[in-house]
Amino acid sequence: MERRIFIFFGPPGSGKGTQALLLGEKLNLPVISTGELFRREEELDTNLGKKVKKITRRGGLVPDGIVAKIIKNRIAEKDARKGFILDGYPRTKRQFGFLSEIVKEKMVFIFINVSDKEVKKRLGERRACKCGEVYHLTFKKPKTSGICDSCGGTLFIRKDDRKEVIARRLKIYHAKTEPLIEYAGKAGKVFVMDGEEKIQEIKKDILKRIKNLYSSKR
Ligand SMILES: [Zn+2]
Repeated sequence: MERRIFIFFGPPGSGKGTQALLLGEKLNLPVISTGELFRREEELDTNLGKKVKKITRRGGLVPDGIVAKIIKNRIAEKDARKGFILDGYPRTKRQFGFLSEIVKEKMVFIFINVSDKEVKKRLGERRACKCGEVYHLTFKKPKTSGICDSCGGTLFIRKDDRKEVIARRLKIYHAKTEPLIEYAGKAGKVFVMDGEEKIQEIKKDILKRIKNLYSSKR
């Protein structure tokens, strides 16, 4: 049987991770993200894991070749025999090249589209507490401004949510990741979703398009 392979991509804060998990649950496919893979390899203390640990400890980026190897191993596991979902990989043309070498089957690329303005609002208005709670100035306000509801701690802006960091992440995204749509169109199907819709609406829409895709093949 042909494996079902879905690749989610979109700007930071697009909700692609959420949609990937929802789809994984629905289709009973593993959702694979590089962050999780790195943690796993480190925990299992594999040779690759040791390498990754050394690199990330110094704050470096794991080389594309190593990431590709880890993904290759992961998708050969038993739970991925019917297919799998990638969340946040590939992000660059080079990574796309590696992926095309590892995966020879057709892939479905699900692009969650969100405007820069919306990304800035979603991420820029996030406030965190050291206890782990996360608030949002529009969608999840704390009862008292700047104070955590559950522990009374002072809320702060995480480094990743700082204005200048968001702007930089968006710039990298537009320069490196967004152009992948073009390659994706050649390697398989591309679904472009409106990421500013409600989570459940996007989910339904994705499922509908997948259903149409597989039924039209027969
Ligand atoms: Zn707190």
